[in-house]
Amino acid sequence: MGKPTGFLDYAREENPAIEPLVRIENFNEFHPPLDREHRQKQGARCMNCGVPFCQSCVQLAGMYSGCPLHNLIPEWNDMIYRGNWEHALARLCKTASFPEFTGRVCPGLCMAACTCGANGDPVTVKENELALIEYGYENHLIQPRIPEIRTDKKIAVVGSGPSGMATADLLNRRGHNVTVYERFDRVGGLMMYGIPNMKLEKQYIDRRVNLMKQEGVTFVTNADIGNTIPAQELLDSYDAVVLCCGASNPRDLNNPGRDANGIYFAVDFLRANTKSLLDSNLTDGKNISAKGKHV
Ligand code: SF4
Ligand code: SF4
Repeated sequence: MGKPTGFLDYAREENPAIEPLVRIENFNEFHPPLDREHRQKQGARCMNCGVPFCQSCVQLAGMYSGCPLHNLIPEWNDMIYRGNWEHALARLCKTASFPEFTGRVCPGLCMAACTCGANGDPVTVKENELALIEYGYENHLIQPRIPEIRTDKKIAVVGSGPSGMATADLLNRRGHNVTVYERFDRVGGLMMYGIPNMKLEKQYIDRRVNLMKQEGVTFVTNADIGNTIPAQELLDSYDAVVLCCGASNPRDLNNPGRDANGIYFAVDFLRANTKSLLDSNLTDGKNISAKGKHV
């Protein structure tokens, strides 16, 4: 384990937050990372539990607890503490396709399950994960993993959100020839247009997509399967088709006043505003503005 008394010696310390009056001046992320020394202490807080509930992903009373990816959390916490970041990163990438996304926007089931949290504050697993992957990019340790052998199988993935991208990544690593179809103009699905920029800046999606392109994955945007491209065309052209379409149909409410002006579904609101931000820095007039309104 890291430091046997780490969880007693060091308090949980999260990434700081930029002051509200400063961060409202832009739409960027506002949690700058801790420095290496402080991150090391956060790694030291991990107790390397005999039963690491953080990485278990077990079903309890119909609900899941612990990391759905079975990330090797105690291992990389220990290596963060010891300063062996490169090895920690390798162990993280063993199970996680996109730590730069989960390290930013995962709900953090690991921390809800962390034993340290039973009688205090859980280990900062999610932020440790993010620190590791960004260390990897900064130090050019994240390089395209091009499969040595290609099969002759062609696979279409419909949808380029997190499930579509992860499916494409894993199939490509096994040597299959993967094409991902996305109905909108940018790759990323809900990560691109359903999560606001201040939680996940979009250059991080582009960074990963470029890496996947170098690894051999093909992305086709503005391709609405079933509309602009017939589904049969995919069935005829590929050995397998994987549907990763997500669930973007909103659940409506049948309440009095529902038909009033100015009521939007969340994803419509987020998509319009993120697209306008990315296309024109909100100058194209296509965003939904709540400026000056009671919300
Ligand atoms: S934050 Fe990372 S380690 Fe925690 S549950 Fe999500 S993917 Fe797993
Ligand atoms: S449950 Fe918490 S303290 Fe235990 S191994 Fe996992 S992260 Fe470390």
